[in-house]
Amino acid sequence: MTPKLALKSVSKRYPGADVAAVEGLDLEVGAGETLALLGPSGCGKSTTLNMIVGLEHPSGGRIEIDGRDVTNIPAGKRNVGLVFQDYAVFTSMTVRQNLAFGLSVRRVARAEIARAVGEVAELLGMSDRLEARAGDLGGSQMQRVAIGRTLVTRPAILLLDEPLSNLESAARLAMRRELRRLQKEIGLTIVYVTHDQIEALSLADRIAVMQAGRLRQVEAATRILSRPAHTFVASFLGEPPMTLLAGRLSGGVFETGGLCLPVRSDLPDGRLTLGLRPQGLVPCGAADSALAGTVLHVEPRGPEAVLTVNCGGRKVKAVVPPGAAPAPGQVIGLAVPPGAVTAFDGDTNLRLHGSRITLGVPA
Ligand code: ADP
Repeated sequence: MTPKLALKSVSKRYPGADVAAVEGLDLEVGAGETLALLGPSGCGKSTTLNMIVGLEHPSGGRIEIDGRDVTNIPAGKRNVGLVFQDYAVFTSMTVRQNLAFGLSVRRVARAEIARAVGEVAELLGMSDRLEARAGDLGGSQMQRVAIGRTLVTRPAILLLDEPLSNLESAARLAMRRELRRLQKEIGLTIVYVTHDQIEALSLADRIAVMQAGRLRQVEAATRILSRPAHTFVASFLGEPPMTLLAGRLSGGVFETGGLCLPVRSDLPDGRLTLGLRPQGLVPCGAADSALAGTVLHVEPRGPEAVLTVNCGGRKVKAVVPPGAAPAPGQVIGLAVPPGAVTAFDGDTNLRLHGSRITLGVPA
């Protein structure tokens, strides 16, 4: 099936910049799918969005919407809606005037505008606020108007750039629910930019993780936490993220800093990075695991506690039920079940697929 949106080898280098803001980006978004572009500030998310909408022109590659090359089509003619974090709502106009704006400037017939505005207001639960002045609305209602203004033009794709970051937390939760409802009710295709992994995990079908202009992984939101494809994804996602141990495997021993761990695996000797999922590690007696050390901190977090354990100079994190948390200063072991460890190539930082590895069982 033709994807709704396809980016093919898309790059962007701003004039005078030493490095590309986006490099060789390949990405497809299916009809009705919500894809989150996730990554730290400066990784190229907004640049990507601006190229999709047509505000920036790629330095290389092509962009297709419904199979049609739109790379050289101007922004206004791509039928892509963009909503920013700072609303872009005319505060002195009424909600109705705001919603009608995009169609009025396109000289759509009055009756048609009234119908479209009524429909979107209904969808957003704002039918009774149409005559209110937008400037009198609260943050989340204002953001609803901003999204509504875009929806009346029936965009093929809706792009949202950190749309919830100006809202306080209760409004943000309400807006998240609202967006999920809209996705379901009208089957919108959405590309959603955020640096907030919780937002990405709760709203998106798939998550595309970017680092320094490059795509590191695209994966279903339900799977990405347990299947990072790159050390960057492992270090960026998860709360807390995986503990990454960079070292060398040699003759059945993995050495990382001052820490030596017995390993049984089918991996060849050489440079290796191991990722330990904090939720997978299980505290045990110090003699029962080669991964052992002194508890440095215990951070209570409601239904769980996060331990930081000094294992031979490496700080390893483990998540435990608060009742089971040892005290700081105590020496404990951390059992590593097979599902809690992920192996990454020490040179490329890519996950080593299909490798079997058992870690830390004393000889
Ligand atoms: P993000 O949205 O992930 O924070 P951006 O796409 O805004 O990242 O920025 C990616 C990189 O491109 C950054 O290094 C940023 O400084 C640079 N950049 C963004 N916009 C411009 C611009 N208009 N001119 C020059 N450099 C830019």
